[in-house]
Amino acid sequence: MSDGTSNGAVLSADGVTKSYRISTAPHTVVDRVTLSVHHGELVAVMGPSGCGKSTLLHLLAGLEPVDSGSVVINGQDLTKMDERGRTIFRRENIGFVFQFFNLVPNLTAAENISLPLRIAGARSSYFDRVSDLMRDLNLRGLQGHRPDEISGGEQQRVAIARALLMKPSVIMADEPTGNLDFTTGNEVLELLWARCAKDGETAIIATHDARAAAYADRVLVMRDGQIIETIELGRREDHNAAPLISRLAKLGL
Ligand code: ADP
Repeated sequence: MSDGTSNGAVLSADGVTKSYRISTAPHTVVDRVTLSVHHGELVAVMGPSGCGKSTLLHLLAGLEPVDSGSVVINGQDLTKMDERGRTIFRRENIGFVFQFFNLVPNLTAAENISLPLRIAGARSSYFDRVSDLMRDLNLRGLQGHRPDEISGGEQQRVAIARALLMKPSVIMADEPTGNLDFTTGNEVLELLWARCAKDGETAIIATHDARAAAYADRVLVMRDGQIIETIELGRREDHNAAPLISRLAKLGL
């Protein structure tokens, strides 16, 4: 499917690098990462805690500037934009889901979901999409509830609905199940999987959990800031983690 980019990728990253100063010494957290994600794919970035997954996702989303390298989404290079440009681009092209949901506590579920529309000053007709998403994400009846009045799984589904609202080119989810119990986490993964497999959305999740990564079509294994292996799982209905776990064991993970 054409998406306006030369290699058919929705997102291409090339040589993305980021260092932080820890004490006084620079420490490379993301080290020359090159990857591409195609339309309708669900890609997992996995690896042990501290390997740089979260930082990589933030760089791909333009939440933080890269030190070097490029990130092209829908043919536009995020790394050539200033912070304001990245903010506007992100609002229109990227749906970001945080581990701790990041909902606004004093807004209702419906108001949290519609927040990007309000910020963008959208016409009221767009707000129909909020009820469609609440129906699709099994959140009916919770419109008027504030985050502390709904469960963790419901809060994460509200966060996903908010991320989907502007019809982003790509959804990025940082440890989307990290704060959920096993069953609720699986429901959230099933939802993300179905949005990609059945509705043609494109998503990247960062996770340290092989059971979560097993929902992906492709797993990029990270260690010490680098992608050390790509594991093609293909699109499967069963999400059985056993083949992935045995591949990871061979890598010493
Ligand atoms: P992961 O998501 O795989 O757990 P992170 O990307 O959160 O890894 O972190 C990778 C490394 O970068 C860690 O050592 C972390 O302490 C460090 N790091 C992340 N963000 C910052 C920051 N803003 N300043 C300094 N060090 C950071």
